[in-house]
Amino acid sequence: MLLKKSRKNGEIMTFKNMKKQVEKKPEKLARVMKFNASKQRNSGRGIHPCRICGKTEGVISKYGLGYCRQCFREIAPKLGFKKYD
Ligand SMILES: [Zn+2]
Repeated sequence: MLLKKSRKNGEIMTFKNMKKQVEKKPEKLARVMKFNASKQRNSGRGIHPCRICGKTEGVISKYGLGYCRQCFREIAPKLGFKKYD
């Protein structure tokens, strides 16, 4: 997952940290959720995570696999893929 990062007091301010900071302030939490929450997407690579590790980068969807390239490399022999030289 890609996070928008901005620096504050030298540390990286992620959405998670931001949310944690305002958890006990309901009005501010509502504002953070409105303007800083990650957008719900219905297309693109963000909606096709790897079945094993959950990465969204390098996911192989060919043949309905749904594994990222790293996990595919580990699991390929079990699935019946053979490596030719
Ligand atoms: Zn994976």
